Amino acid sequence: MHRFGAILIVSGPSGAGKSSLIKAAKDHIGDFYFSISTTTRAPREGERDGVDYFFVDQDSFEADIKAGEFLEYAQVHGNYYGTSLKPVREALEAGKLVIFDIDVQGHAIARERMGDLITSVFVTTPSLSELKRRLESRGTDDEEIIKKRIQNALVEIEYISAYDFLIVNDHFEKAVDSFIAVAKAARLKKGRKQALSFINKWRGS
Ligand code: 5GP
Repeated sequence: MHRFGAILIVSGPSGAGKSSLIKAAKDHIGDFYFSISTTTRAPREGERDGVDYFFVDQDSFEADIKAGEFLEYAQVHGNYYGTSLKPVREALEAGKLVIFDIDVQGHAIARERMGDLITSVFVTTPSLSELKRRLESRGTDDEEIIKKRIQNALVEIEYISAYDFLIVNDHFEKAVDSFIAVAKAARLKKGRKQALSFINKWRGS
């Protein structure tokens, strides 16, 4: 049977460890495509265009919005972030698990458009004070930006109930195991169309 892919959305405050979890799990969750978002924020030290994000200016982002390029987009911490539809569609057609690292607004929009294919997980630190500590020790952002991220986290945390799974990133190894389990479950999720086509084939064989 041709297997259509599935989507795993990972959200949570900046500094909760989403990227580290995805990196640590990557050899244990089978073939997947990590959706590279487009953003108007400036690259951090060590980030590369086309690897971490596609870094663009505001005019170019707004032109893409008009052209209907995005599956979803949102403003986070005063910058635009968006997921391009085309590469996601191609990866899904190739039967891959597609992983999005997007914020809570993007999750809500993607659910509305492709909810049938989506499994979602919210990743957070055990406490607000631990989040502050991690953002400060990361040393990549100045004080103003850290403040914005904390304020945003206080809002984002309220959306946990909209997610299928919650991972509290306290002990990293344990969190990685949980993330692997969630990614495997996401692959097994079946959309309505897939279910109907399976029923028809099953009956006729
Ligand atoms: P950062 O600037 O730390 O890389 O990301 C800031 C926030 O933007 C994170 O919560 C991240 O999940 C979110 N984000 C990254 N890419 C996208 C995207 O394509 N769409 C949406 N809605 N949020 C995104």
